[in-house]
Amino acid sequence: MSKSKHKGEARAPRLGYVGLGIMGGAMCRNLLDAGHAVSVWNRTAEKAEALVPHGAALCDSPAAVAAQSDVVFLNVTDTADVEQVLFSVMGVAAGSNEKRGLVVVDHSTISPVATKDFAERLHEYGIVLLDAPVSGGDVGAKNGTLSIMVGGPPEVFEEVLPLLEVVGGAVTHVGPAGSGQVCKACNQVAVLGALLGATEALALSTKLGLDPAKMIEVVSAGAGGSWQLNKLGPKIVKGDLEPGFFVDYLLKDLGIVAESAAHAGLPLPVTSAGAQLMRAASARGLGKKGTQAVSAAVEALGGFSFADAAVYGEDGETEG
Ligand code: NAP
Repeated sequence: MSKSKHKGEARAPRLGYVGLGIMGGAMCRNLLDAGHAVSVWNRTAEKAEALVPHGAALCDSPAAVAAQSDVVFLNVTDTADVEQVLFSVMGVAAGSNEKRGLVVVDHSTISPVATKDFAERLHEYGIVLLDAPVSGGDVGAKNGTLSIMVGGPPEVFEEVLPLLEVVGGAVTHVGPAGSGQVCKACNQVAVLGALLGATEALALSTKLGLDPAKMIEVVSAGAGGSWQLNKLGPKIVKGDLEPGFFVDYLLKDLGIVAESAAHAGLPLPVTSAGAQLMRAASARGLGKKGTQAVSAAVEALGGFSFADAAVYGEDGETEG
């Protein structure tokens, strides 16, 4: 199959979508806008109904979606939710009618260990699972520019690649079943480390009286620069904690990291300490704020406020 984002391509597969939240809703809309026929189901029906004017066909269960589809996309919250929409009485597996060749593409961020198990159980129904978690947030989902990391059989990946390229900007096959979820877990470890490095650098500059904006500018130009420092650093300085990516969602993903590391017998001491700081932010009622809200936990530990940062004018005078 060649890459196509255009309407009217011959022999297009029939698509299904289960889980139409922030990410799934936007990604499904991009598939519809590209001219694909998509059957949809969402636990809260209104979110599925909102896609009907855009061409979606409403179904009353994941089983009904599977019965009408060649490829079913999932985008639900956590491991137990994926298990439920796959294997419950009215789940995808039940609806496949042992029809051979159904492909399930799971865009949720869940456990790599459970994903391998799900792939084996789906195989019993003649269903192939691709784990395909994404990075790039709600903006990437709306713009169709997500980074997608895919695990599963390479030949099936090649078959669905044109569909993944409708919703993603960078789509990469990274290995067998579960590998996409491993890659996403690695992504979250790297995100956490960079975020906490940026936050502690800002804490040090604030406490020692260096203008944090100047620190961000200079450090970003060198080896200490990162997306987290550039994009979230200024928000921390301004006290802007609006999401972005929720503290509680990163905590969910760090639970997956901890489970995976324990499974591998691997200590991750820096990540573990970082996860405690994220938990402290959540415990302070900031779970639905952006991940930069970890700055509140760093402030509490240090007994200072980022709002107290010295800000210098062009003549070098302190403004406040
Ligand atoms: P969301 O807006 O909360 O949507 C979650 C969806 O899952 C909703 O459609 C929800 O149905 C459905 N769901 C949850 N549990 C279910 C269950 N047991 N049975 C059936 N449906 C269930 O979350 P989101 O931001 O779209 O995130 C979806 C996935 O993408 C998560 O794994 C998340 O970690 C990952 N992700 C998110 C982002 C981001 O920036 N948001 C970025 C990368 C990856 P209802 O509508 O009925 O609640």
